[in-house]
Amino acid sequence: MKCAACHSEMVKKKGEIELRIGGKLYLVRNVSYAECCSCGERVLSPEVSQMLYNKIKNKEYTEQTITVPVLDGTYG
Ligand SMILES: [Zn+2]
Repeated sequence: MKCAACHSEMVKKKGEIELRIGGKLYLVRNVSYAECCSCGERVLSPEVSQMLYNKIKNKEYTEQTITVPVLDGTYG
C-alpha cells in the first residue's frame, strides 16, 4: 500500500490513533492502521473506518477525560 500524500510505502501498525469526526476528537486504542514511514500519514482500512463510525453512531465508547497539551499559534 502506498501513501496518498507522498507515495512512499506504508507499514502496518497497531496502536492508538486520533480521529476527528464532526468536530469531536476520538481516541482509538488497539486499532490496526497503516502508517507512512516517510511523512507519518496514517490511514485506516475501509472496514476498520466503517466499524469505528458504527461504534460512534451507536455510542459504543467510553468517555474519558484526557489532558491534551494545547498551543496557541498566534505569532507576533
Ligand atoms: Zn507519506
